[in-house]
Amino acid sequence: MIEVCFCGWRGPVENRRYVRTDDNSEALACPNCGHLDPVDYLPELSRRELLDIAKQRTASRRYSNAPIRLRTAHPAA
Ligand SMILES: [Zn+2]
Repeated sequence: MIEVCFCGWRGPVENRRYVRTDDNSEALACPNCGHLDPVDYLPELSRRELLDIAKQRTASRRYSNAPIRLRTAHPAA
């Protein structure tokens, strides 16, 4: 499903950033301009699925951008 934002960004809808809005509802944000789309035009099940996918992708992108930390400490000998 390709989405087009009014700012000109286009891409798979699940590549939008998952966000929680101030009123604690969920929405997808355009990665380019930050425009929020509550995707409430979708049937509830499809919306849920889409938000979950976007959530996972947002989390994994965040992880991959994070500085690498070693899991185990290496105390000086
Ligand atoms: Zn946009």
